[in-house]
Amino acid sequence: MHTIHDSNLTIAGHVVSGLHYINGTRVASSESFEVFSPIDQRVLGSVALGLPEHVDAAISAAKNAFPAWSALSPKARQAILHRFGDEIAARADAFCALESNDAGVLLSRMKHGVVPRAKLNITYFADHALTLHDRARRNIETEQATHIVKHDAAGVVVIITPWNAPLMLTTWKLGPALAAGNTVIVKPPEWAPLTCSLLADAAQAAGLPAGVLNIVQGTGAVTGAALVADARIARISFTGSVPTAKWIAGAAAAHLVPCSLELGGKSPFIVLADADMDAAAATAALMYRNAGQVCLAGTRLLVHRSVKDAFVRAMRAYVQNLTIGDPREDATEVGPIIHPRQVERVKGFVERAVAAGATVLWGGKPHSFGAQYFEPTLLTDVAQNSEIVQSEVFGPVLTLQTFDTDEQLIDMANDVDYGLGGVCYGEVAHATAIAERVNTGFIWINSFGIRDLAAPFGGCKRSGIGREGGDWSFEFFCDVKDVIVPKKPFKASFSHR
Ligand code: NAD
Repeated sequence: MHTIHDSNLTIAGHVVSGLHYINGTRVASSESFEVFSPIDQRVLGSVALGLPEHVDAAISAAKNAFPAWSALSPKARQAILHRFGDEIAARADAFCALESNDAGVLLSRMKHGVVPRAKLNITYFADHALTLHDRARRNIETEQATHIVKHDAAGVVVIITPWNAPLMLTTWKLGPALAAGNTVIVKPPEWAPLTCSLLADAAQAAGLPAGVLNIVQGTGAVTGAALVADARIARISFTGSVPTAKWIAGAAAAHLVPCSLELGGKSPFIVLADADMDAAAATAALMYRNAGQVCLAGTRLLVHRSVKDAFVRAMRAYVQNLTIGDPREDATEVGPIIHPRQVERVKGFVERAVAAGATVLWGGKPHSFGAQYFEPTLLTDVAQNSEIVQSEVFGPVLTLQTFDTDEQLIDMANDVDYGLGGVCYGEVAHATAIAERVNTGFIWINSFGIRDLAAPFGGCKRSGIGREGGDWSFEFFCDVKDVIVPKKPFKASFSHR
């Protein structure tokens, strides 16, 4: 750690601040940390490390900004948040360059998927807040009284996100939190903090009042821990790993702060005997997207024994044609793994699986393109209770198991601690019947990745607590209040029930 010298980083010609953003201004720190690119391990620059004094300043700023921001009408917030969305779009090239260099996300995916979605994450929830306003006015009429049900902003919200999709996941939380009238402190991931910093520029240009959005960069152990321990916060919205979630839930318990936890996955990718083999294989190859660093990927291929050979043959053809390389190139389909430590972790999982008897159908080792690239890998001959079947690898490593009956399939699909997503390929009625028995937060039939901001997103079991999306996001970021107005004059009485 050292003092930050140059407050700006320049990446592919785009300038981004390395400082915190607190109370509408950039704030330096006496300590900083370096940011590396997963593409080639070059140092991109240093960014300020959030110390307890920055956490305190950010929470104070958010607390001070809360009364005025929450008192604005949803319509007034909508106007500002739409400008925020426009300012995100106006910086599209910079967001693409930063996240591609910083997190290794495909530039093409940033351009066509993530940046438009980041804008929508803000504007959709700003619009949705207008119906929240309607709901707040929705009365429950009884003989005795009118119950006016209101959704009040909860207060100061802490948002903590991981490195695999920082812009998408941060805006997905930020949109509803701000639209509901909360003020926010974002703690970006330390391995990929730069797009969150640029969000502050967009917010400032849009005229978001000082203190409504604060960004404090830093590590989980120092900055994140100080944020979630503070008694002044009203909500914690976290996406990340199970061990961190347990730690955060423990810290939140000290002040009984509600947490939304979006965690890891080990989702089944089911191929029934009546599936379209080619379509299933093409989609299965997509599980290597973002080098497998995708929480909702279907990483356990569960294939009917009768079609195993046909499926493997079809999938191999797709995997052989994947272009692995620099995420900034248009043709690239699979980019790097975020950090050398993560590469070692992925390697370790594969080595231990092979030592335990797994057969490598393809891949299994680092890719020749560079130190942080790993071959798309498929392992079979794996036991249901083995580490490779039970643990989230978060890399380009899938397992393949076969089943003979639907009962066997359901047992295998549900016999893991996780329950985030799933994919089921097969004749629609059959696949849907199977989907109903899989214990998971969502499951795609003959498809993958179709999402809608109005639909619930989240996991069962160790994959999380709570749901995000549409009304579910607002339920979390609001306190529901019942204002009871009697219809007849109220006469106080001790015998009154
Ligand atoms: P992580 O849990 O290590 O870190 C996530 C965030 O938590 C980071 O910003 C980190 O700094 C912070 N953090 C760490 N310790 C903390 C502490 N003590 N107090 C407060 N904050 C702390 O996760 P990661 O390695 O960055 O991300 C990968 C994980 O995220 C995987 O398990 C993946 O499945 C999960 N993920 C889930 C979803 C989802 O929507 N369910 C989406 C993407 C990623």
